[in-house]
Parts: sequence; C-alpha cells; structure tokens
Amino acid sequence: MIAALKRPSGFLPVILIGLLILYPILASDTRYEESVLIICMLYAIMASGWNLISGLAGYVSLGHSVYLYMGMYTGAILGKAWEIDAMWLAPLGAVTAGLLALVVGLIVLRTRSHSFVIITIAVLLLGMLVAANWRGLTGGSDGFIVKQPSWAKDNPTTPYYYIFLGILLLTVALSAFIMRSRLGAGLVAIRNDEGKAASIGINTTLYKVTAYTLSAVPFGFAGAVYGQFLGFVTPSLVVAILMSVFLVLAALVGGRGTLWGPVIGGFLVWLLNEVGTIAAGEFRARLLIMGVVLILVVMFMPMGLLPTIRNFVKKRRESKSAVNFIDQKSIAAVSDVDISKIIARTRQQSEGSSHILEVKGIVKRFGGVTAVNDVDMAIERGSITGLIGPNGSGKTTLFNCMTGTFRPDEGVVLLDGENITRDRVWTRAHDGLGRTFQITRLFKSMTVLDNLVAPLETTSVRQMVAGRYSGDEVERAREVLDFMGLAQFEKQDAAALSFGQQKLVELAQVLMLRPGIILLDEPASGINPTLIEKLATVIRRLNDAGTTVLIVEHNIPLVLSLCDTVHVLSGGEVLTSGTPDQIRNDPQVIEAYLGPDHMVGVGNE
Ligand code: ADP
Ligand code: MG
Repeated sequence: MIAALKRPSGFLPVILIGLLILYPILASDTRYEESVLIICMLYAIMASGWNLISGLAGYVSLGHSVYLYMGMYTGAILGKAWEIDAMWLAPLGAVTAGLLALVVGLIVLRTRSHSFVIITIAVLLLGMLVAANWRGLTGGSDGFIVKQPSWAKDNPTTPYYYIFLGILLLTVALSAFIMRSRLGAGLVAIRNDEGKAASIGINTTLYKVTAYTLSAVPFGFAGAVYGQFLGFVTPSLVVAILMSVFLVLAALVGGRGTLWGPVIGGFLVWLLNEVGTIAAGEFRARLLIMGVVLILVVMFMPMGLLPTIRNFVKKRRESKSAVNFIDQKSIAAVSDVDISKIIARTRQQSEGSSHILEVKGIVKRFGGVTAVNDVDMAIERGSITGLIGPNGSGKTTLFNCMTGTFRPDEGVVLLDGENITRDRVWTRAHDGLGRTFQITRLFKSMTVLDNLVAPLETTSVRQMVAGRYSGDEVERAREVLDFMGLAQFEKQDAAALSFGQQKLVELAQVLMLRPGIILLDEPASGINPTLIEKLATVIRRLNDAGTTVLIVEHNIPLVLSLCDTVHVLSGGEVLTSGTPDQIRNDPQVIEAYLGPDHMVGVGNE
C-alpha cells in the first residue's frame, strides 16, 4: 500500500476502496446494491486468488470454483456439527481448500503438461460428483441449509458486505506480498520460460505447487462465509462451471498478472452480468453479453484492461519526453573489476576429483534417433574445454543430459565426483553447474537487472518469502553487469537488446549463480565480430578467476585459441579428443568436420 501511494496510479484503488467502505454509511436503503457488490467482491477475491497460479505462473485453471465449494462445505458441515456460525470457520475453509489444492497440485504440477487445463476441469467435475453422492456428509444433491447468525435478522447484508470487503483486502494483501517476494518473481520467470527458470536454480515444482495451494486459500476462506450468506449449499455443476468461467473472465478483463486487475475485473464482470440479467427478459442476454465481452477482450485487449491503460499512459509519457536512445551497437569494454570476488563459490566445493564434470557411457535416444551414443568425457577443473562437431552431432543433447534437462537413457553424470544423474535441473544449478542456451532464453518481459536477480543459489522457504530485491543481489548484479560492460542496459527490457547483447546478458545471468563450471552453447553464433572479441575476453577472465568453461562452438579459430582441450563429436560419438594443435592436424577431424580448406577459411564455419 505504501509503495502504491508513491505512484499516482496507486491512488485509484485506494479511492475505490474508500468509496466501498463509505457506500453503506452514506447511501440509504441499499440492500439490493450491497448484495450485488458482495458478489462483485466475491469475484474479485476469486479472480485475485486464481491470478496467483494462472496469472503469475501462467498455468490456467478452469476449475478453481471447486475450492470455493470446499470452503462452503467446510463451513456448513462443521458449523452444523459444532453448532457455530459457518463464517467463523472461514480459516478452516482456507485450510481444507489449501490442502485439497496441495494434493491436486502435487499430482498435476509435477510435469509441465498442457493437460493441466483439462485436469483442473476434471477436478471440478469430480468434486461436484463427490458432493452430490456422499449423502451422509454433504446432504447429496439436496445440500444443506446453513443457519443464519442471530445478527442477520434485522439487516443481513451490511455486515456481510463489510466481511467480504475485509476478505478482499486480505486477499489483495496476500497477492501484493507474493508479487513482491522471490516466489512471485520466480512464478513470473516460470510463465516466461519454465525450462530456463529451472536452469537458473528455481525449483519450479515447489514454486508451482506453492502458488497453486495459496491460490485456493482465498476461495476456501470466502467460501465458508459465502455459504452462510447464501443460506444453503448445494452441488450445482452448472453454477460451479459458470462461476469458474466468470472468475477467469474477471481476471482476463482486468489484467492477469497484475495486483488490481483481477479486482477491477471482478467488479466489471459481475456488474455487467447484473445489467444483462435486468435487461434479459425471456432472452438469455447475460450469457450473450459475457460471450461478446470475452471475444472483444481477447481480440483487442489480450493483456486486460489495466495493463492496456498502463501501456497507453506510458507510451504517451515516453513520446512527450525525449526518447532515451541507446545505440544498440555501442557496448562498453570489459572492465577491470576483480570478478573473482563476485563470482567465487561461497559454499564448500568438494575438490575430491580433478575432474569437475564427468560423464560416463551417456546414451540418449529420441525414438529411432540415437542423438548421443556412449559418450565418455571428463572436464578438467579450471580448464577451458571445447566441444565441436557438425550440426546434429549431439552437442546440445549432451549438454541437456549434463544439466538435467534430459535424463540420459544410459550412463552417469558426475559433478565434483558426485553422481548427479538423478538430480533435478535446479539442484545442479545450486551445485554450481551453469549453462547458456544456443538460442538465448532471457525472460523477455523483464528488464536486464530483473533477469540478473532472478537466479537462485539455494531453495528455502525463507528465501521464497523474502523480497525480490532484499539481499545483496542487486549490488552483485550491478557488479557483474559492470564487469561485462553492460551497465548501461540495466533498465532496458531484455527483448530490446540485440541478439549478441542478449547472449552476453545471459552469460551475466548465469554468473549470478557463482557457477563452478559454465556450459556455453554456441555463444558466438550470430553475433558481430566486436562482440566475439569481447566474449573471448570475458571467457578468459572468468577462467582466470577460477571458473571452468565447457564451450560448444562452430567458430573453430575461436575454439582453438581459447581451449586447453577439444573434444570432437560426430554422429553422437566422440570422434577424438586432444589439444588444439592435435585437433588442428588430425586428418580424421579435417575429413569429418573441418573440411580440407579449414586452414584457409578462417572465420565462422
Ligand atoms: P547439435 O547441438 O550437435 O547440433 P543436437 O544435440 O541438437 O545436435 O541434436 C542431435 C540429434 O538429436 C539431432 O538428430 C536432433 O534432431 C535430435 N534431437 C535433439 N533434440 C531432440 C528432441 N528434443 N526431440 C527429438 N529429437 C531431438
Ligand atoms: Mg546445438
């Protein structure tokens, strides 16, 4: 809230909330309006909860109303058994909804599956089926009458109105907290590129399951109160499905991924629905209106209302002020900063093996294709090792087996002498295995600085709840950017940089992990010669500072000038290994890869 007040746009929600607080006091005879606003707030609460998993992490759930029902039944059943008002059980409703979501999340979020959407609908259907058939517990399809509290006799709406307003504020506070935390930053990274997020140390499974569980909490909390407000709980599948659709619509209209978008959307969608119902007559105008709104939003405001307005305002401001022009070609030289202090591993590294990374007997097949076939390779600690070979020879696949993106069909991977074959991608990143990608995979919607503070060196609850800029990482990120001569790009969106600059930023990002070894996948391909020179300097400096480098590259002169040892891959097998001199003169290599003219054609392959 305090931060929101610093921005002029942060005033708007505060004013709206103020109006909501004052409305029942200032206006008279508002029972109908209040009851409409209660449902608006309910949708705002649900859309904000949904936003935590579907808006931030991008995993769209279409069955989230099941968690509202979980809260409704928890309040109704236990309230009756214990003879207390259902609404006092709201915290318990939050717990049961959260537990159900945890179980569902653990099952469906372990993988990165497109079937997630379908499964969320299935969970809703299953939930309603259980509610309709477990007569002993839920009263079956007849449901429950929920006793009204004694205070509700004279004026039932106004107290509920304020209770829902309170829940809404709590939900917004929860969202704000998550969005500012590392957890929130990690979720946005997952939405941008899940594989990349894992490679920089984000425990994607934990993050997704946590977000999914937390997203159900506001539903369960509000559900217990809502059941009592309604006065009954029945398992109506049609209502539940419509509710899920409406709340998704609310978040989409308002702007998913934003703090206030889902809140504003909740009000808009339900007010529109109310207008539609009044205007309906015999005709089902309200569904028609909803359908049209959905189509219009998807077509003209795919980001939602709030982000669209924000972008519009931002563009107007930018066009008024002088454009802040950055020459995309200009780039500062590598600085003299002592990089070793910034990137030295802080945790004890077992130096039991002189080979920092070793693979033995790696086999990886894709259907009929054997991409990597029985590869043994040991990377000397402190070396710069090259890996060359024609396109399709299995270099990237071998990298993916080393980093854990793929699990090899056979063979083992050792890091610092320890078997990590079964470790997840983020664990390997924590243990000091960093990598860049052949096609850079920066988080395009984030600034360069945000890209650099995203990597995580460990996984812990304390870290997840910490603010995203709470530690020393901003300072370190600036030092790394400074070292690489990228300081001027700090505030730029990653997408605005040239391909070569993105490659350097991606390397800077990996350095934030303080990796013991970095795997570079074709770092020089597609970038201009000045940047290649700079890249070579950076790699040498990193190596001097103690970082081991394994580099896949087609620029043979670059590889031969940088590396201590070069391995040649061909058809998924190691053709030969040796020093640059040996490789340069190996007839087998010349034949298979370099071609007879290689001594003449110095430059890119
Ligand atoms: P390189 O990086 O040396 O150019 P790759 O490791 O990308 O080679 O590819 C080696 C072989 O594996 C190629 O035949 C490629 O088509 C195949 N391959 C790589 N990744 C996949 C994948 N995800 N699914 C199916 N086949 C793949
Ligand atoms: Mg490749």
